[in-house]
Amino acid sequence: MKLCRYDADRVGLVQDDRVVDVSDALSVLGEMRWPVPKGDRLIARFEEFRAAAEEIKDVPGKLLSEVRLLSPIANPTKIIGAPVNYAKHLDESRKDQGIHFDREIKTIDQYGLFLKASSSICGPSEGVALRFPDRRNDHEVELVAVIGRQADRISREDALDYIAGYTVGLDMTVRGTEDRSFRKSIDTYTVIGPWLVTADEVGDPGALDIELSVNDEMRQRSNTRHLIFDVPRLIEYASSFYTLYPGDVIMTGTPEGVGPVRPGDSITAAIAGVGAMTVDVRDA
Ligand code: MN
Repeated sequence: MKLCRYDADRVGLVQDDRVVDVSDALSVLGEMRWPVPKGDRLIARFEEFRAAAEEIKDVPGKLLSEVRLLSPIANPTKIIGAPVNYAKHLDESRKDQGIHFDREIKTIDQYGLFLKASSSICGPSEGVALRFPDRRNDHEVELVAVIGRQADRISREDALDYIAGYTVGLDMTVRGTEDRSFRKSIDTYTVIGPWLVTADEVGDPGALDIELSVNDEMRQRSNTRHLIFDVPRLIEYASSFYTLYPGDVIMTGTPEGVGPVRPGDSITAAIAGVGAMTVDVRDA
């Protein structure tokens, strides 16, 4: 199942080049009362939602090309980032002063993971707004794993059972000396989309072609088999420090080829078996 959020917070099933509106199935989520439980309610109750959505028939679809795609995940408790998680990106980070700013680049087992503000999330149709266009703002294409149920101290053997699905992600980054979590948390600097593909449709997350182009120029091209910490290890590692909740977003790290974008650029990011999205860059 491919699930998207679009237009004025409609929820849709993506079928070929169309979106079928299944927003009525949101009624299974019940009323929200303060304080809301931690996690994204739709992901937490996904099986009930899925059953209700599959009952909805004969709804006219809209063309995908005519809808405005938002982030399929609305309310994650956290966005988890994996620093330098591809060997060739580690190499380029150590060689490029515009990335390392005279600091030693360590390895992921030395850094641990980092967090981005959940307010930085947007969908592909919202685009990236460069708040500091005079500084270097880089694209980073990443496989995103979305947690499906509460997970605390999970072993890598069990980790994939905790994944609801996958999306394509852009971990946008303003380069500089400030802490990563600050530079990567600017509004719109976490693009999630174009939809959530449920884990049953993806199979092995460790063998997916991943690529990114800017204005039709190929910049990044790799495969998730080159991840240093693979998806099960990232879940094991993250959940050894904190509980993961439904809808939590794990950005698994970017391969080599990161580089700057400017207002007016158009980014296309794609992962085989997950999806492709085009994201425009503008001034904030
Ligand atoms: Mn990244």
